Amino acid sequence: MAESTKELTEDGAKVTTVATDENATAAPPVEPGARTIIILFGPPGSGKGTQAPRIVDALGTPQLSTGDMLRAAVAAGTEVGKKADEVMKSGALVDDDLVAAIIKDRIAADDCKGGFLLDGFPRTVGQAEKLDAILKETNESVSMVLRLCVPDEDLEARICGRWIHQASGRSYHATNKKPKSLPDGAEPSAENMLDDETNEPLMQRKDDTKEALVERLKGYHEMTTPLLDHYKAVVKEVDAAKAPAEIGPQIDELVAPYKK
Ligand code: AMP
Repeated sequence: MAESTKELTEDGAKVTTVATDENATAAPPVEPGARTIIILFGPPGSGKGTQAPRIVDALGTPQLSTGDMLRAAVAAGTEVGKKADEVMKSGALVDDDLVAAIIKDRIAADDCKGGFLLDGFPRTVGQAEKLDAILKETNESVSMVLRLCVPDEDLEARICGRWIHQASGRSYHATNKKPKSLPDGAEPSAENMLDDETNEPLMQRKDDTKEALVERLKGYHEMTTPLLDHYKAVVKEVDAAKAPAEIGPQIDELVAPYKK
């Protein structure tokens, strides 16, 4: 049987990941007509936002990012946004009930009829239990947890150089993926960091700082990593420390069985 293992350092401990060729042969545990429910899982800066559109294109299901939804609520000044604003700036997690309620409403929408891709939710075992209970009401369960594995030491450089085009979610990097507008050798700024397609200004997230990353990673390791045990029957792993061009094909293979 084609099987191999590789090791990544995480939490100071070695984790063994299963080779993608074995992952790819796993049969999807779905009945015809059932919704495909995928959780995109990984630490901040692991590339969830970059890879999500690929899955959206392949499966035709929407990407539901609780981070995006909360940022929109903050920008709109809603009650939810007011509650979440300070917590988000510090890099801590907002309340389980609040995010679960947002997701419960969202997955009832028409565009989720074929399934949906969860990005950044659930983030605690409590949230996973709430999601399970919500899905149980319709006799559903999570189809796959797609885990993007990146060692902690790679994340700071990815996060702290990140610039985003808010309207499209397109992500750039001050050194690794520069927009065309940034002249060689120039310091990145709001004036010279513009989206390649629209020429609109890019923005940096308030929590994409070294200080907030420490808190975000602490939360990830303490509260989010235990979800891997909760969902162990459906976790598939991708080595996301590689260049984006190498990560995409691994993801394509894993989602291919869910194409309808
Ligand atoms: P993200 O864009 O996924 O990195 O999320 C940005 C911030 O939004 C996080 O650092 C949290 O403060 C908050 N957030 C997003 N999703 C969740 C969630 N599922 N549970 C709690 N807080 C969340």
